[in-house]
Amino acid sequence: MVRLEEIIEKVSAYSPLADVEIIRKAYVFSGVVHQGQTRVSGEPYLIHPLEVANILTGIKMDPQTIATGLLHDTVEDTHTTVEKIEELFGPEVAALVDGLTKISRITFEKKRDQEAENFRKMILAMSKDIRVILIKLADRLHNMRTLGALAPEKQKKIARETLDIYAPLANRLGIGWMKTELEELSYKYLEPERYEALSERLSKEGNVTHDYIAQVKDIIERKLAEHNVAGEVSGRPKQLFSIYKKMQAQDVEFENINDIIAFRVIVESVRECYEVLGIVHSTWKPVPGRFKDYIAIPKGNMYQSLHTTVVGPYGVRMEVQIRTEEMHRVAENGIAAHWKYKEGGAFDGKDDKRFAWLRQLLEWQTELKDSDEFMESIKVDLFSEDVYVFTPKGDIKEFPAGGTVVDFAYAIHTDVGNRCSGARVNGKMVPLKYKLHSGDVVQIITSANHHPSKDWLSFVTSSRARTRIRNWIKTEEREVSLSLGKELCERDFTKHGLEFGRMLKSGELEKIAKEAFGVSGAESLLAAIGYGKISVQQLLGKILPPEQLSPKKVSAFKRMFDKLKPGGKPEARNPVVVKGVEDMMVKFARCCNPLPGDDIVGFITHGQGVAVHLAGCSSLLQADRDRLIDVAWDKKEKSTRPARIEVVCKNEKGLLADMSNAIKAADANITDLLIRSTPDNKAVCNFEVEVTDHAHLKNIMKSLSKVKNVLKVERLKSEGQIGKEAGA
Ligand code: MN
Repeated sequence: MVRLEEIIEKVSAYSPLADVEIIRKAYVFSGVVHQGQTRVSGEPYLIHPLEVANILTGIKMDPQTIATGLLHDTVEDTHTTVEKIEELFGPEVAALVDGLTKISRITFEKKRDQEAENFRKMILAMSKDIRVILIKLADRLHNMRTLGALAPEKQKKIARETLDIYAPLANRLGIGWMKTELEELSYKYLEPERYEALSERLSKEGNVTHDYIAQVKDIIERKLAEHNVAGEVSGRPKQLFSIYKKMQAQDVEFENINDIIAFRVIVESVRECYEVLGIVHSTWKPVPGRFKDYIAIPKGNMYQSLHTTVVGPYGVRMEVQIRTEEMHRVAENGIAAHWKYKEGGAFDGKDDKRFAWLRQLLEWQTELKDSDEFMESIKVDLFSEDVYVFTPKGDIKEFPAGGTVVDFAYAIHTDVGNRCSGARVNGKMVPLKYKLHSGDVVQIITSANHHPSKDWLSFVTSSRARTRIRNWIKTEEREVSLSLGKELCERDFTKHGLEFGRMLKSGELEKIAKEAFGVSGAESLLAAIGYGKISVQQLLGKILPPEQLSPKKVSAFKRMFDKLKPGGKPEARNPVVVKGVEDMMVKFARCCNPLPGDDIVGFITHGQGVAVHLAGCSSLLQADRDRLIDVAWDKKEKSTRPARIEVVCKNEKGLLADMSNAIKAADANITDLLIRSTPDNKAVCNFEVEVTDHAHLKNIMKSLSKVKNVLKVERLKSEGQIGKEAGA
């Protein structure tokens, strides 16, 4: 078992200025909170964090990372909180521990290859700090080293995950030795019999192999000396797992795998690398197609080396890797070989440019076949632009950055999207706009009478969701307007003694639709009427002779004022937009008569489009909630609305003129007026004025209340109170 002092010595050796106090402190804290806990093997739990910290010294990590290695399981496995860690060790260590706790809470079960890839990307995306992954890898490595203590079934599960997720991650980070060890250990537990047989086989031939290696090493060293190249030569049997993979890939028996030995030559310069290659190729015959120049074209994880396979003495194939000292360091420690420490041993990995580069690096595939592919991979969009989240069942879904729960809902199923009314993310309720984060567990809440809204289009990011929402709105708009068009026609046709149902059935309307309106059929015509694009009057005009069409009922008063108004502009466009529906027929409720700027709500009437009410209108209390619809004032549409004001004043001569002037002063026209006197010698005046919005009305009322002898000014919300003819 490694001792704390050994760890501290190692850190001080590679980073003499490092402040190692935090490591001691973390050790003491970890010891206290894990007190009494044991591993499955029966050993004290503290051994595990100590070993993890020790592994991290192997890749020369900074004191904060080593301390986190000691603390990595404290939040997950003890009562300690991230807040406590922050209080004691600062925000940096707290963030690292938090990252590790989050990753430890997700488990992976491979279903398809792509999922393993997504899972690796998710871990990368979740780890805002690259050190989280390195600590996780060290954690996994120690768990794999001590996997023997677990039940075989558990061993297999963890080994599978290691092989699918963590060994490739180590490879991507370029930490060659860790990748190799993780693969070797996984293989041992996944295929115990084969592993055993293979290693027995290798050790049986061990002596022969050993002699052979010594012989070849000797030849290479002599040749180097002849050419005045200083180099270090080593040879070893290849990794069991890589032999196994080769046997599988080539579908051959062990006897036929003949390049189980690999040599490595480490020299001082790149020039010497190629020189050594020349020496090797002139000594033994190279196997065609096996030479790879990773110096000219490095692997995505920065790995550089020359690889060649030659036919060595006795016809045995052997691989030779040639690289410089620096390349070797990178091959073994990957990105960790590039750590730079600031003064005091602080980690410098948060430098933005460097971090961006690291992220890019991680994305690059490791086995790139040629330089084109390499260049292509540089251009590929980075995974950090994507988020990876879970369904409640643990399936992984991928979304572009900014993806919301609505995107998620549509990714599950169109019906789920169309009925999505809310969501729980990691158990908490969130709004539909909630932006997903990698690692979120998302559960969609649906309700049968919830429907997509046009608003959703403003925040969804996936094209799938966008298309589905648009489709729904289109269909829905058509359905609503179709039934509205039918109702409008039925009512007005009856008034004129026409049988709507019969005309629809007989195809008469179909004909009119096509011939007189140039639309595709009766349904389209009715939908257009529902939309308000075509009026029932227009349709009737095509059916009835002009004299049978009754003139539009307009109050004499309004006609008079229309004549007086400069330009006499008739109805402007809808000043109200109905959310989710285009060009819906809109009318203002007479019970509350809303003005631009008021809070409003729409009510889908039977046959008369959408009635717009004040949000708090009492007539809506009994209304069918399903018929309520979101509406808003169209800010682009400048129009006036009639508003009614009741003024109570003393019954004095000339007061009406004063009030008219006050209204004019507030820049408004009077369109209707009703005056009555009361027994107590007061006058009650009901003005109808044209206002642009709520604020305009307020202004008018203020102006009126300043008039002498005016006692009370009030807005009338109900049209009935003025006794004006309805239906104009
Ligand atoms: Mn652990």
